[in-house]
Amino acid sequence: MKQSGNDERFCVIAGAGPAGLTAAYELSKLGIPGVLFERDVRVGGLAQTGDFRGYRFDIGGHRFFTKIDFVQDLWFEILGEDLLERPRLSRIYYDEKFFDYPLKPWNALAGLGPVEALRIGLSYLRARALPEPEEHNFEQWITNRFGRRLYEIFFQSYTEKVWGIPCSQIRADWAAQRIKQLDLLRAVKNAVLGARKGPVIDSLIERFHYPRLGPGMMWTRCCEILAGRGYETHLQTEVHRVHHVDSRITGVTIRDAGGRERFVAATDLISSMPIRDLVNALEPAPPADVLEAGNALSYRDFVTVLLVIDQPDLFPDNWIYIHSPEVRLGRIQNFKNWSPEMVPEGSTTALGLEYFVSEGDAIWSMPDPELVAFAAEECARIGIVDLAKVVDGAVVRMPKAYPTYDEKYPRALQRTRAYLDRFENLQQVGRNGQHRYNNQDHSMVTAIYAARNLAGEKHEIWNVNLEEEYLEHTRPEIRDRATPAPLRVEELVRVAFARYDPVALGGSLALTFGTGLFLATAILLFAGGDPIGPNLALLANYLPGYAVTWGGAVLGFFQGAALGALLGGALAKLLNGTIELHARRFLYQTAIGAVLESVEGGEP
Ligand SMILES: Cc1cc2nc3c(=O)[nH]c(=O)nc-3n(C[C@H](O)[C@H](O)[C@H](O)COP(=O)(O)OP(=O)(O)OC[C@H]3O[C@@H](n4cnc5c(N)ncnc54)[C@H](O)[C@@H]3O)c2cc1C
Repeated sequence: MKQSGNDERFCVIAGAGPAGLTAAYELSKLGIPGVLFERDVRVGGLAQTGDFRGYRFDIGGHRFFTKIDFVQDLWFEILGEDLLERPRLSRIYYDEKFFDYPLKPWNALAGLGPVEALRIGLSYLRARALPEPEEHNFEQWITNRFGRRLYEIFFQSYTEKVWGIPCSQIRADWAAQRIKQLDLLRAVKNAVLGARKGPVIDSLIERFHYPRLGPGMMWTRCCEILAGRGYETHLQTEVHRVHHVDSRITGVTIRDAGGRERFVAATDLISSMPIRDLVNALEPAPPADVLEAGNALSYRDFVTVLLVIDQPDLFPDNWIYIHSPEVRLGRIQNFKNWSPEMVPEGSTTALGLEYFVSEGDAIWSMPDPELVAFAAEECARIGIVDLAKVVDGAVVRMPKAYPTYDEKYPRALQRTRAYLDRFENLQQVGRNGQHRYNNQDHSMVTAIYAARNLAGEKHEIWNVNLEEEYLEHTRPEIRDRATPAPLRVEELVRVAFARYDPVALGGSLALTFGTGLFLATAILLFAGGDPIGPNLALLANYLPGYAVTWGGAVLGFFQGAALGALLGGALAKLLNGTIELHARRFLYQTAIGAVLESVEGGEP
């Protein structure tokens, strides 16, 4: 943990999204003063709620869902009864059909038909028999687990829409990070119990929390509480320069909407601004290779087109994933199904049409009226809306919605971290602040820890929401505090379907056969009996050199042992093969329905 060592603290917080506001909220409880600077016109960052003529909308629907108790407590502390519990329905649109989402094997197979189902089955078997030896990228990772055909139908087009690059260029980390949310018990219960859903399944999958007036309500209210406690939030004011001397941040230069600049001294800086921007804001500038690394971090940007439709009910889903490759549209939100108060009049519907873009590309640059018309036409083309009923529309562009996990990012992140870590009074929090695919809850945890660190606690904020492989090698108490221990379906299935050890089974049969033959021979030798001796001697037909003599007993021991070892090894292989078949069938059934579901986790 980094500490400034100053008694008189004043913390500057860059960004008033979930992370920045949570940091300030925690600081206010600890009695450490500070101020927030926010570049945007409103607070909430990616979790803000926009308003167009009374129609409220999210930048992507934001479920309030967490397994971290103290985050959930904080949501309720601020929102109380305004945090609603809402039912969830979401489906995938592909090939002019709707599929349940999370995918349910039978629903998916019924929708795809028997021929496609056979293709999927065969390609899965092929993937299991001849898996990709390396799992560096998303395509390899998914194909190894689901087969190529399922990958092509349910992963490829949507994932490429989201990231704008081929799946072969997306690192496997992304899939692994999403899938780490898998809860095997849920998967097993789903697969085994089918429709008999218990309360856990209901609350985790079919219901979620959502503020009455959208996620922005949480952050606007948090900001109001903070104002009452003396923490100002300056909107349309960006942290433009970050000054440092001798490994300490000394303050920031802020720039308001009118271009006016001002220096604000700070004993501490909590930054939720993108790492790329932070590195470029440093004054004096960092070494060239650090700047180069910061600029190598890339992002995916986001456009929401809001359509107002003169119809009370369009579809029952909260959101629909559009997997069809013939349209650019990625996802559709129906905001009144998130909360009825998101629309001013119940006789109308507001849809959020989501496009994953890169700043400056054709969709991003399209003038608003054209973009509204383009989006409405795409939506009509796939049969979701009637163009004649579209009465109004608006566009919101959100830069840096997703930190990209491409081939360059691990090295770039490592280099920038190595440099920024030298600043003893700087802490990087949140999503772009850490270039990590954090949801609100993990973004908030990093912020809470950063604030507590200023009060002398010692939290490793970079360990929040880490990949499980890494966590297994870190201190368990860190994982327990912030990140629920992840379960891996394959590992647990391996434990449940335990295998025979060929060496152990071979060894025990070797000992049994060898000792048995030795003892039988020895007994005959001691007894000196005729009637059985010649019969046992018949074994010589099968065991060369064996005889009812002491030499034969020793030879018999070794030959019996060899026979036992061979038999035990073969038996173990046979049994393991049968168990493997069962385990794979089980994995496949649960994986389609449950692993895919965990890929989503609240975001596309
Ligand atoms: C489409 C989509 C759907 C999502 N769905 C969910 C969901 O269902 N549930 C969920 O929990 N999470 C969801 N998330 C993730 C969630 O939005 C983020 O985890 C959360 O907003 C991150 O908070 P943050 O404060 O770290 O970053 P941000 O929300 O990005 O906030 C950072 C703030 O800093 C400001 N800023 C940046 N640079 C500067 C600067 N130099 N000076 C001043 N201000 C600056 C920005 O304007 C912004 O307001 C979703 C995200 C997206 C994109």
